[in-house]
Amino acid sequence: MRILVSNDDGVYSPGLHALARVARKFGSVRIVAPDVEQSAMSHAITIRRPLHYVRTQVDGNVAYRVDGTPADCVALGAHHWDRVDLVLTGINLGLNIGHNIWHSGTVAAAKQASFLGIPAIAFSAPFDFSLAAEEQELDYDAIESHIERVIEVFLETQGMPLLNVNFPEGKPQDILWTRMSVRNYEGSVIPSEDPMGRKHYWFAETPRERVEEGTDRWAIEQGYVSLTPLRLNLTDDDRLTELRSASAGPGFSGS
Ligand code: MN
Repeated sequence: MRILVSNDDGVYSPGLHALARVARKFGSVRIVAPDVEQSAMSHAITIRRPLHYVRTQVDGNVAYRVDGTPADCVALGAHHWDRVDLVLTGINLGLNIGHNIWHSGTVAAAKQASFLGIPAIAFSAPFDFSLAAEEQELDYDAIESHIERVIEVFLETQGMPLLNVNFPEGKPQDILWTRMSVRNYEGSVIPSEDPMGRKHYWFAETPRERVEEGTDRWAIEQGYVSLTPLRLNLTDDDRLTELRSASAGPGFSGS
């Protein structure tokens, strides 16, 4: 099996190499990842300039460093390597649950694979952003067996195009199927000042309100690995049915 591994934290991220380590148990692995951090780039693609990559060594393993977005990396990786069977992205430094799924470069890289008809899994784990990566213990050994199990479950489940996986703090209890938590958006902009006295702004998020049972956030809080199957079709089918069956306005025809 050919497995392409990518992320949005950049080619040197410890999470990327932990994921590649597990992936090697399933087949041959190629790492194609952004040269610098591309978190929260979502599904951006590079269209006004060409892309370049450099073959490099990280921890004794070959990796391809791309001057592009996470989605670019997967597109380029799949272009250069015939018949990729599976794309794995992450392990992201920080959870990608709820509305963060929309912002995430990690999820978008997996989504890019789905666009190309390659099944993909995005992995994310908690990360304390108040500390540098080298100051905190990123114990990927504790979740490696769960990553392995998730990949096995994914491969056994026929036809699943895209799976979003998030790990809880510490050793997980078990894996659990969940749905994306949706709540009112809590992103806000905080104004401040730079050392020269110029105004600048920080994008920030305020704490959540309540946690709904069965969601990704709920599973994480209960100590489970959250597995959310995602789809590429964003159509709101219930509303579409409602709109079609309601008396159609001028220019619309019901069906
Ligand atoms: Mn990231």
